[in-house]
Amino acid sequence: MPHPLHTLLRDTLAGHRLTEEEAVRLLSTRDRGVWAIAAAADELRERKVGDVVTYVRNQNIHVTNICKNLCGFCGFGRRADDPGAFCDDLATVREKARAAVGRNVTEICLLSGVHPDYTLDSYTDLISSVREAAPGVDIHTASPDEIAWAAARSGASTVAVIERLRAAGLGTLQGTAAEILVDRIRAVICPRKCDTATWVRVIREAHALGIRSTATIMYGSCESEADRARHLGVLREIQDETRGFTEFVPLSFIYENTPLYRAGLARPGATGREDLLMVAVARLFLDNFDHVQVSWGKVGTKMAEGALLAGADDLGGTMFCDDVSVDAGGEGADYLDPRDMQRIADDLGRTLRQRTTTYELV
Ligand code: SF4
Repeated sequence: MPHPLHTLLRDTLAGHRLTEEEAVRLLSTRDRGVWAIAAAADELRERKVGDVVTYVRNQNIHVTNICKNLCGFCGFGRRADDPGAFCDDLATVREKARAAVGRNVTEICLLSGVHPDYTLDSYTDLISSVREAAPGVDIHTASPDEIAWAAARSGASTVAVIERLRAAGLGTLQGTAAEILVDRIRAVICPRKCDTATWVRVIREAHALGIRSTATIMYGSCESEADRARHLGVLREIQDETRGFTEFVPLSFIYENTPLYRAGLARPGATGREDLLMVAVARLFLDNFDHVQVSWGKVGTKMAEGALLAGADDLGGTMFCDDVSVDAGGEGADYLDPRDMQRIADDLGRTLRQRTTTYELV
């Protein structure tokens, strides 16, 4: 007989490590138990990181939307001959990086399609160009899929690729391309991306080299609660070993302009209940993570505030530009002014603080 919900939450707050089966149960809650889960996650957040709400002043730079993967959940990636396909040259990338410096960012995210012609040299040239134009910023880029692609295209090991990218100026790795770390689901939503084992291996290699990364999940398409729990289990196992993840970032599926939704293979995104539970259960399950981010670009600022009451402690970045969300149908996903973040923190009686990519307060 399963534990009553309140006993399970009380035990978790007292140090019980949730199993994946228990996480499934929490993620499947449909009644007022949702508030009990959110309250427990909020309590744990307060104990762990206090009342500070953090954000990073960052900017995305999209170098190209031409992509080898053409994932079903993505409205951004294009074939080279599709209308709207673009690929910036290095001079344009430097110009965008200088503009970012003018906005006082501490982090630049190179967030692009995985261009089929890119090699390791293409990636090192891009990173070096940003490093030249923006010497002081953290260059946050290169998902495990991009690293595996650069390695395959250039006949190098993934470790050698990570080392070359670091030498060019890479600061932290993007924990994107994780989507759902269950190969049966990847075969539907992103069949050309690296498999789960490769994602895990590349992340472990980066962490072993002292390069930290985020950890993401893209939920709300066609995965089950059990798949989400398995994904959390994979992340927790890695973190036990490396302590290299800076935070967990749940990314709610924006469905409107995506092939997966149009083909009837995905639901129209997660519900509000699921968005709250994803944050809350992550806070309770990922006991070895300090920070849980809420992605305002994916769930909107009002739901983001709700998530800050359900275990989240970080509002992510200012972005200045997020064509990945906008092209998929996300309205207002481009830029969040720190003054609006301040309003959210004030409304909750919490303190807003700017942070670096690795969570040092600025
Ligand atoms: S999600 Fe990333 S890898 Fe997939 S199609 Fe879009 S840009 Fe390409």
